[in-house]
Amino acid sequence: MEVDYLIVGQGIAGTMLSYYLLQQGSTVIVIDQYNPFSASQIASGVINPITGRRFVRTWMIETLMPFAAFTYKCLEKELNISILQQAQLLDFHTTPQMHLAFSNRLPNETEYLSIPDDTNQWNSYFNYPFGVGEIHPVWLVNLQRLLQTWRNKLRELQVLIEANFHAHNLQLFSNGIQYEQVSAKAIIFCNGTQAADLPYFQKLPFASNKGEALLLNIPELPRQNIYKKGISLVPWQDDLWWAGSSYEWSYENTLPTEVFRQKTLQQLQQWLQLPFKIKAHVAAERPATLERRPFAGMHPYYPHIGIFNGLGTKGCSLAPFFAKAFSEHLKNGQPLLPEVSIHRFHKILRP
Ligand SMILES: Cc1cc2nc3c(=O)[nH]c(=O)nc-3n(C[C@H](O)[C@H](O)[C@H](O)COP(=O)(O)OP(=O)(O)OC[C@H]3O[C@@H](n4cnc5c(N)ncnc54)[C@H](O)[C@@H]3O)c2cc1C
Repeated sequence: MEVDYLIVGQGIAGTMLSYYLLQQGSTVIVIDQYNPFSASQIASGVINPITGRRFVRTWMIETLMPFAAFTYKCLEKELNISILQQAQLLDFHTTPQMHLAFSNRLPNETEYLSIPDDTNQWNSYFNYPFGVGEIHPVWLVNLQRLLQTWRNKLRELQVLIEANFHAHNLQLFSNGIQYEQVSAKAIIFCNGTQAADLPYFQKLPFASNKGEALLLNIPELPRQNIYKKGISLVPWQDDLWWAGSSYEWSYENTLPTEVFRQKTLQQLQQWLQLPFKIKAHVAAERPATLERRPFAGMHPYYPHIGIFNGLGTKGCSLAPFFAKAFSEHLKNGQPLLPEVSIHRFHKILRP
């Protein structure tokens, strides 16, 4: 089998890159070992333009959010599925200081922040003594449905290999690569946190962290909003609610922990006034980076090996824009943004 690109991994990074490469007429093979506990499979799927304790805009959100919405809408049409929902995020302040921080930011951020008309309307669902603010618009992506449907499409096109990739079977040549039966102009690693184990990329400043979530039944809670008070409650697939998350930088394994379950239960009991049931508890590693910027591009010293990774906490908004940019870079050499191009690490990547 001879193709332009062999892509390793079909999380949101591999999905978006294969989508845009196919769109521009390149040929691809995707190799992915399905993992129900990959970051993309357990993510809540939120694109939130505002972040942190000071309610500031996230990096490049004015460009990334509209482009992401556009891409997910194109995929909805092409795959005949519904995966994108616009929502508002109700931010129930955790302390009087957070209430003040929101109020201070409000006059300068009228595009995304507001105070709901009736701040008492959630009194019967939640306890929120320090008030509530609204972030709008926020997008909600059904990543699991997207990944599953895209996987089926790749199967139909007969370009999916459902297996584990083994780096020791990769052969490099002056004009491309060979992996088992596949020869390609280049191989691109979209394999999430596993990329940090590859000899070509292990020197990149990855800073993977672990996140957990409880999946809940809360039948009486209106599903058009995302609710947040320290933790977030996000309307998720199969009528479930996604409650999370944590950011752990030191952990023995990537399994769900009793500590998270107890802490989250306690938070929910203090905040939520409705009956709920825990249906599942999930955990995964986020492929985050020290500088909080993605890694994209071809290896400076192995020109047939590339990477699209480091999407951290923001795969839903970063993947569409930078997958498109990477596909154009591959096709016609259009430069990648210096902040995401792995050429910024050319010194440490020297073999
Ligand atoms: C708890 C939690 C909540 C999150 N919530 C959000 C959110 O609301 N919004 C948001 O934008 N982001 C969120 N994220 C972050 C988001 O999940 C990530 O940014 C994104 O999923 C990373 O995608 P990826 O494709 O790079 O990696 P992954 O999703 O890890 O995908 C990698 C793929 O490669 C495959 N693979 C790896 N190694 C091999 C191999 N050797 N052979 C074959 N296949 C292989 C894996 O099986 C997997 O399918 C969240 C993450 C977590 C953990």
